Amino acid sequence: MDLTSDAGNVDYPEGYLSGRANMDVLRGEMRLNEPMGKHTSWRTGGMARRYYIPADLDDLSHFLQRLPADEPVYMIGLGSNLLVRDGGVSGTVIALHARLNELELMYRDQAGGTIFVGAGVACAKVARFAALHQLTGIEFLAGIPGTVGGALAMNAGCYGSETWDFVEQVKVIDRAGMIRLRKPVAYEVGYRSVQRTAESFTGVKEEWFVGGSFRLKNGDEMISRQTIKQFLTLRVTTQPLDKPNAGSVFRNPPGDYAARLIESCGLKGAIVGGAMVSLKHANFIINTGCASASDIETLIIRVQENVARETGIHLKQEVRIIGEAREGGRLS
Ligand SMILES: Cc1cc2nc3c(=O)[nH]c(=O)nc-3n(C[C@H](O)[C@H](O)[C@H](O)COP(=O)(O)OP(=O)(O)OC[C@H]3O[C@@H](n4cnc5c(N)ncnc54)[C@H](O)[C@@H]3O)c2cc1C
Repeated sequence: MDLTSDAGNVDYPEGYLSGRANMDVLRGEMRLNEPMGKHTSWRTGGMARRYYIPADLDDLSHFLQRLPADEPVYMIGLGSNLLVRDGGVSGTVIALHARLNELELMYRDQAGGTIFVGAGVACAKVARFAALHQLTGIEFLAGIPGTVGGALAMNAGCYGSETWDFVEQVKVIDRAGMIRLRKPVAYEVGYRSVQRTAESFTGVKEEWFVGGSFRLKNGDEMISRQTIKQFLTLRVTTQPLDKPNAGSVFRNPPGDYAARLIESCGLKGAIVGGAMVSLKHANFIINTGCASASDIETLIIRVQENVARETGIHLKQEVRIIGEAREGGRLS
């Protein structure tokens, strides 16, 4: 297959569009028209026009430097909080999972230790690594099926802890491929929300996480392992893990639970095409087998509208939606 045949109209640097994005400088892998259903936990969605897997941080930096200025860029991890519309993504998706994969104990003192983790490392691996080094606090990451980059972007959390509770510093890369370190004060961090503070980012249009250092307290390996086991067991009993899903679809509104509100409106089991509100956990939408992204998005909107009508509460989405609706199509 000629991977260079669908280059679009953008003026790309030589070598940019090869199957192996290559050549003299780039060492990562470029795929064209990559089905995003392969890279999202909902297992559905349109294609990424360009999908780049960097070889490492240096390669990512070179790649970003070479991108045309107007090319839209979407950085993703494991796609566990992501819906890609059926019409796909016309820009470039950059996938970091398993690429920016440093995981090291940086230093240790009497109170605990600091670990550095690349953005592409799976959260579960970090929880086990910390336990192994007798460090405690981030056991909760064991059940989050995303990367550290995604966890930083979302301030992922559960069971009373959140990712940014432990962040000492983050490593970021901007559109020009420039790498910086930033302290948590550069961000306004909240429940599933991480916003840049304007003053820290003057002149920086886009920036992504490429790693972070996490400060942890001294713990006990066996206790941490037990905690991890308990957390995972709890998930199996409360979440529909046998069907493709993206975790909680909506954020919990202040003082309440999205799942409770959805259930109270009789929406458990509600169906649009192949998408269904889980019978096990009302804040999960599962792909029963053949859901399109449009089925899922339509169901999200339907749930939102019903809950607003019945309770007066507007549920805010936790999942991120990118891409365009299928051409000529509309939400089902
Ligand atoms: C079964 C299941 C259970 C879940 N349980 C939880 C839970 O308990 N708590 C919770 O918080 N979440 C949960 N989630 C949701 C999801 O796992 C988290 O939000 C996770 O942090 C997403 O990581 P990811 O690597 O998959 O990110 P992706 O889904 O790939 O991306 C999510 C968003 O983050 C952005 N992003 C990703 N990487 C980067 C980066 N390096 N730099 C900047 N932006 C980036 C993307 O552009 C996108 O907007 C669950 C999901 C599933 C499927």
